[in-house]
Amino acid sequence: MDKHTRDKHAQNTQERDRQARIASNLSCVMRQIQAAAQAYQTKTGIAEHRVKLIAVSKYQDIDSMRALHLAGQCAFGENKVQDLRQKVGEFAVIAPAKPIEWHFIGTLQRNKINALLALSPTLIHSIDSLELALALDERCKAQGRIQPVLLQVNAANEPSKHGFSPESTLEAFARISSQARNLQICGLMTIGAHTQDIARIQESFQKTKELYDCMKAQSSHINTLSMGMSGDFAYAISQGATMVRIGSALFTTH
Ligand SMILES: *Cc1c(COP(=O)(O)O)cnc(C)c1O
Repeated sequence: MDKHTRDKHAQNTQERDRQARIASNLSCVMRQIQAAAQAYQTKTGIAEHRVKLIAVSKYQDIDSMRALHLAGQCAFGENKVQDLRQKVGEFAVIAPAKPIEWHFIGTLQRNKINALLALSPTLIHSIDSLELALALDERCKAQGRIQPVLLQVNAANEPSKHGFSPESTLEAFARISSQARNLQICGLMTIGAHTQDIARIQESFQKTKELYDCMKAQSSHINTLSMGMSGDFAYAISQGATMVRIGSALFTTH
């Protein structure tokens, strides 16, 4: 083998290793999700509790995302509008036939609303103020579209986090529902309490679930409770999450 062939060979082997690793991460995460959903069904007596996986690709390059997509994952989440735009463009080239669901999970600045809407996100998880909701609604109205969204709850009242306080969430839901007719509120999103204390993490998910149940009692459109990341998704599912947002556990390659 000459040097070029040898390098090429090494590169292909590396690529295959990455593909195998990411596929194995995905099946491992799916098994854990399944197990937690099963346990939730048993605990609550609910016949079937489905949990949807959003692969958070915010720190990943297109090759890792392609590997996960080849393994069967079709819903991805990004937290910056410019990154989302780049990845939507790259995916259109590598997988033009298969539709990808794009979820926006980051803080949305008002001056990025038009750029985000141009990318047709499946769901915006991070409506964190009445002002943002009204500004987004105005753009949706002008474009004649209905945008599915979640309200973000700062369930542990952490100063470092965005979102409605638990105390103000239901009022925000009522006001946004009546004033922002071009937003379809589908439920809530939260980020678990930032602590090692499992009881406090559980409590932040439980509080969000209670608010979600109140909203569900008021509207037939409420069907999505987005909570749980790599470190805490099993706890989130045990409290009733219907959607988890997982990054590092899927993409780690060592
Ligand atoms: C980064 C991020 C995630 C995923 O975090 P991991 O710990 O990598 O699983 C989920 N949700 C939001 C809002 C994020 O910013």
